[in-house]
Amino acid sequence: MTATAQKQSAGSAVARCPICRKPTVKTHRPFCSKRCAEVDLGRWLKGGYALPDEPAGKADDMFPGFPGGDLDDDGS
Ligand SMILES: [Zn+2]
Repeated sequence: MTATAQKQSAGSAVARCPICRKPTVKTHRPFCSKRCAEVDLGRWLKGGYALPDEPAGKADDMFPGFPGGDLDDDGS
């Protein structure tokens, strides 16, 4: 269908696998193999879901508005 794609000259833009730095394979672009594609996907998913550590700390920081000192002052 895309005849223009054939104009690609080897060496013009050799993309490399972001996982292992090997030259990418057409069938698995932008990776060199299905394995690397899955590795990247796994990383991506993990990175998107494995961020509970940050928001958790932030949420804790969002609670300091609680009037705790007032209670102590009233009890004295
Ligand atoms: Zn690779």
